[in-house]
Amino acid sequence: MRPSVLDKLFSPVTTLPGIGPRMAPLYARLTGERVVDLIWHFPCGLIDRRLSPRACDAQPGQVATLTLTVLHHAKPASSRRPYRIHCLDGDVPVTLVYFHAKEDWLLRQLPEGEVRVVSGVIDRFQDEIQISHPDHVVTLAERDSVMTIEPVHPLTAGLTARPLARAIFAALERCPNLPEWQDPAWIAKNGWKPWLASLNAAHRPQTQHDVEDSPERRRLAYDELLANQLALMVVRAHMRTGKGRPLIAAGKLRERVMSALPFTLTNAQVRVLAEIDADMSEPVRMLRLLQGDVGSGKTVVALLAMCTAIEAGAQAALMAPTEILARQHYATIAPLAQAAGLEVRLLTGRDKGKARDAILSDLAEGAADLAIGTHALFQKDVYFKDLALAVIDEQHRFGVQQRLDLTAKGRMVDVLAMTATPIPRTLMLTAYGDMDASRLDERPPGRKPVDTRILPLERFDEVIGGLNRAIAAQARIYWICPLVEENEDLDLAAAQDRAQVLGQIFPGRVGLVHGRMKGVEKDRIMAAFQSGELDILVATTVVEVGVDVPEATIMIIEHAERFGLSQLHQLRGRVGRGERSSSCLLLYGHPLSEAAKKRLEVMRATDDGFVIAEEDLRLRGGGEVLGTKQSGLPEFKVADLARDGELLNAARDDCKLILGADPDLTGPRGQNLRTLLYLFDRDQAVKTLRSG
Ligand code: ADP
Ligand code: MG
Repeated sequence: MRPSVLDKLFSPVTTLPGIGPRMAPLYARLTGERVVDLIWHFPCGLIDRRLSPRACDAQPGQVATLTLTVLHHAKPASSRRPYRIHCLDGDVPVTLVYFHAKEDWLLRQLPEGEVRVVSGVIDRFQDEIQISHPDHVVTLAERDSVMTIEPVHPLTAGLTARPLARAIFAALERCPNLPEWQDPAWIAKNGWKPWLASLNAAHRPQTQHDVEDSPERRRLAYDELLANQLALMVVRAHMRTGKGRPLIAAGKLRERVMSALPFTLTNAQVRVLAEIDADMSEPVRMLRLLQGDVGSGKTVVALLAMCTAIEAGAQAALMAPTEILARQHYATIAPLAQAAGLEVRLLTGRDKGKARDAILSDLAEGAADLAIGTHALFQKDVYFKDLALAVIDEQHRFGVQQRLDLTAKGRMVDVLAMTATPIPRTLMLTAYGDMDASRLDERPPGRKPVDTRILPLERFDEVIGGLNRAIAAQARIYWICPLVEENEDLDLAAAQDRAQVLGQIFPGRVGLVHGRMKGVEKDRIMAAFQSGELDILVATTVVEVGVDVPEATIMIIEHAERFGLSQLHQLRGRVGRGERSSSCLLLYGHPLSEAAKKRLEVMRATDDGFVIAEEDLRLRGGGEVLGTKQSGLPEFKVADLARDGELLNAARDDCKLILGADPDLTGPRGQNLRTLLYLFDRDQAVKTLRSG
């Protein structure tokens, strides 16, 4: 049960004055449905209204608070013209300008002959000093209420600044003074204030610097990280006691697969496999993340892990986010599996009718050992005889529910999640706590670094000249067209145009793949590119260019400035896989923002995915690193992982001490920490505590 001190905070926003059923949806969209959601909506800037110059000294564009005598209202002849109110600041004329304003309201606000305090942005029109739509108009007696520093908040369409600020301050007034959950020595060491004082101060920044960083914000960030780490550790401690099944094998199957491999495993692959084996052999469910750059050889590791599950008498499944990737895995794995005498089935959305029925019955009856597929694998009518290991490729592209759906197809299923998007350590910790992670930090031998260049799009002709020479030397080229407008039709049109232009220059040598294409058609083009029938593959990013074409040596990314770092890194990883040296051209258009320029520079400077991921975090802030909300990574209300990494480490250490001393959080500080968990919506952790 939530502590009752929090009740007021957890009531709907409509319990606040001025928020009725009409406004509630806007608040729900911007912050949330509850009062508590408003207290985390911090200012993104401030307006200093304390400046009160003489009107003639005020600079245009500056915010100023003036004391004006209202002379007279000049009502416009037509409602399309502005309503003007002539005033005087001493002997300096100032005009207030309103568009579409109601006359009676203006007459009440600014009665002729009276004095009013008016605050807004100063404008000069010819020789006239103007304020259009002043932000505040009050009487002299209320002057102090305006002469303040006013916080500015992020808004949403339909919700204006003032009602929102009022709602936030009303929510703050509802905040109870909560008992301290932080360690007193730690608080003292940092010189932090209590929670409520910190919260109130964080909502009243005095300088722009306060908006970005202040001891109060840090304290609150620490609270949030503490809640995050505590919840993860509680749930994890609980999971460890949960049952799993030991999957142990002598390794016969694995040996057979290995002897069919045209290469030997890298040291990193051997090490990672040992880590996986150790997990699988335990009577605890495995939940391990395998991180490895594109081309680091995760597929083989997955296959060898699956061999263990199969040799132990069970089944294994490998799920990929796209049809193309699933097919590629199947193409890689099928011959190896065959050499080892394994039955593999491919199941994707494209399988229908009798063919699909046959696959389903093989999985259900155990005639198939290994299933490779897409989302099709966890549909309702898919059953396994005995699924014991689920491998999830590009795991961040699946939702939590989808991962659960797959593991629900078996009994105590071990999970190996794979990702080619290296996740910075700070993010790993906040998303998974100390979840077991393995890193493939070594590339298979013989890979040459990709020569990366940055060029403006205007040098298209030079690029084409280069392509001519490259094609003459048998090179194969990817040409990526970006998401331009977040609109598939427009993006597609851009890609089609590009393919057409290139097709005119290189007749018969250019293929196009995009997200709207039928699967078979896509496969046909991909196969033509793979076989060398086509030299240039133009693709939109909706298409996973996941096909392994070692002959491809040139990657051209058009409007590279529009891509995130991780995406650029992924795309570049498609070349540099074969014997020949490869290159990557990042073509940029204008305007090139500072951030975009830095991203491109990072790409040129390094090809280490982990370094790139850290830079990505630094340049963009944690929430955006993987681009989407479906990344499964938590979003923070106060903490900024790019800035608060140190605090995160401290919070982890703190949690270990806390749980070491009071694992059930029943002591006095433990009780306060439970309140903290509720405050940050980590109820699940408290429930876990209760279930023992
Ligand atoms: P990713 O980690 O991106 O999924 P893949 O598993 O697709 O990488 O492997 C990329 C390429 O490297 C494949 O062609 C694969 O056969 C090859 N490969 C994997 N491991 C090794 C190795 N130890 N030595 C040489 N080549 C390898
Ligand atoms: Mg892969």
